[in-house]
Amino acid sequence: MIDLHTHTTESDGSFSPAELIQAAVDAKLEALAITDHDTFAGYDKARPFAEAAGLPAYRGIELSTALGTPRERTVHLLGYFFKQDPSPEFISWLQHMQAARRDRNVRLAAKLQSLGCDVRIEEVNALGRSLAGRPHFAKLLVSKGYANSTQEAFDKYLDESAVAYVEREEPTVEEGIRRINEAGGLSSIAHPIRLGKRDHADEERLLADLIDQGLQAIEVYHSDHTADDQARYLAIARKYGVRVTGGSDFHGANKPNVRLGTGYQNNITVSKSLLEDLLQ
Ligand code: AMP
Ligand code: ZN
Ligand code: FE
Ligand code: FE
Repeated sequence: MIDLHTHTTESDGSFSPAELIQAAVDAKLEALAITDHDTFAGYDKARPFAEAAGLPAYRGIELSTALGTPRERTVHLLGYFFKQDPSPEFISWLQHMQAARRDRNVRLAAKLQSLGCDVRIEEVNALGRSLAGRPHFAKLLVSKGYANSTQEAFDKYLDESAVAYVEREEPTVEEGIRRINEAGGLSSIAHPIRLGKRDHADEERLLADLIDQGLQAIEVYHSDHTADDQARYLAIARKYGVRVTGGSDFHGANKPNVRLGTGYQNNITVSKSLLEDLLQ
């Protein structure tokens, strides 16, 4: 069993890179990919621990990208660097995106303050390390009593439709795909169930469109997918001749129902042969 979708404390997971590697060893995973949001910092820190443990660990990333012009929604795009490290161009592009996120965070903290919430950017950064995001703002809002739960913090303040929402520069999904492919990576659409399409025909059209733009794989196996979803995405991957990826989307205590390797109530098992296909 392997897991190709995991997060560390370098984005919004609760396991440090070292703890994630230990958890993967404990779960007897045969391989792991770390796919923190918009950063390689977690993978870079985990690598020596994985090497010491003899666990094959792969460099991945989960990029937030904009679908549609004007932007309809954010879609998550996975990039895997199984065979080679990303190009320097990709790294500097990523640094630009990270700067855009930091700028958004500063504006978001200011907006929250203007709404009477005592949330300072220094506190957010202390929680979020190399990649503070809205989940960290939510945590602070809860701990300071401005909301009773993470969900309430999003509903009241942080959601796209809520009072404190501020825009941030996001690459288009087309650009994300192109950047990953050009950098020597494998691009895969994360948890396609969250594309939010009304019906299956619409969903297939969108996936076909993305494949036209260069998308190389579909995340067929994911904690949010039912057995029917898996079957549907597998059929689409076969029909359009793209590859298949899968993983739990492990976030530790930040998504307590999702287990490393096995997902939500054992709803996934990703076999090592899937990785062998990807490595070919
Ligand atoms: P960011 O990349 O900083 O804008 O934060 C995006 C993350 O916030 C997503 O990956 C989700 O984990 C979380 N998130 C976004 N919208 C919501 C929502 N309405 N409810 C709960 N969590 C959300
Ligand atoms: Zn996440
Ligand atoms: Fe995601
Ligand atoms: Fe994820």
